Amino acid sequence: MIQTVGVVGAGVMGSDVALDLACYGYEVVLKDISEDAVRRAKEKIRTDFRLLKMVKPQAKQLALEDVLDRIAFTTSYDGFGRVQFVIENITEDWERKKAVYTELSEACGIDAYFAVNTSCISITKVGALMPRPDKVIGMHFMNPVPMKELVEVIRGEHTSDETVACGEQFLRSFDKVPVVVNDFPGFVTNRVLMLTINECVWAVQDGVAEPQDVDKIFRLGFGHKMGPLATCDLIGLDTILNSLLVLYDSYKDPKFRPCPLLVKMVDAGYLGKKSGKGFFDYDK
Ligand code: NAD
Repeated sequence: MIQTVGVVGAGVMGSDVALDLACYGYEVVLKDISEDAVRRAKEKIRTDFRLLKMVKPQAKQLALEDVLDRIAFTTSYDGFGRVQFVIENITEDWERKKAVYTELSEACGIDAYFAVNTSCISITKVGALMPRPDKVIGMHFMNPVPMKELVEVIRGEHTSDETVACGEQFLRSFDKVPVVVNDFPGFVTNRVLMLTINECVWAVQDGVAEPQDVDKIFRLGFGHKMGPLATCDLIGLDTILNSLLVLYDSYKDPKFRPCPLLVKMVDAGYLGKKSGKGFFDYDK
């Protein structure tokens, strides 16, 4: 039975994954690379917990200090030897992910399961790095994690049926709805979403419409709750760019080439909500 979960990467996704798990009684070891990142994660968890209490009935009874007590914040792999499940959420960059899985294979027990939270990176490729590739699975969480039921679960080439069943059961234990798909770059969600967002950025670059009007068309015309450019800001422009580069590299198809405006905005540090500015402005 899973009781303790290791969460690697405490950014937008990792800190919310940790918060969500802690709300459901799991013990969490949350690791990032610097004290500064860990401090930011703690702040984000506090803020997100307050928002969560306002909107999610299950969270209303919980106290922030109890939730925080279940999360051990760390910059090392101490504590990973006893985790039964790892959810990795580090930056969408193959070389970095590769280094982390080498470290995890040494830090964790042989029976641990590994869930890769990625937008586009191949689960099969990650599995091939590990001594037990059958224990590696993809879990593409949606943002913001505590508010979204869907998790796109990706079965890599080596992922066993037992790992898929265990992963699904684990996700259901904290009220997620898993949808299992096969491993192909971008899976279903991001193969389509990244293309849509990128095309909207091209439309802005070409002067077809301003960002607010592009999004308005999707909200009012197609019933989307949020427009593609606001979604881009929420996900992070750097993550969108990295995902497009992975898709471009994987399919060798020019339709995935990142729009120069997106590259320019990332170079300028306009990363979306997390930096305070993207296609729209946000209060810090
Ligand atoms: P982010 O940039 O907000 O956070 C990444 C975190 O990983 C940072 O805090 C960074 O310091 C940390 N990190 C980098 N190298 C590390 C290492 N070696 N060890 C520990 N921590 C390390 O990124 P994010 O938006 O949270 O995305 C994380 C993953 O989730 C990516 O693979 C992304 O594609 C995927 N994802 C993102 C979203 C989204 O909406 N942002 C949605 C679904 C999936």
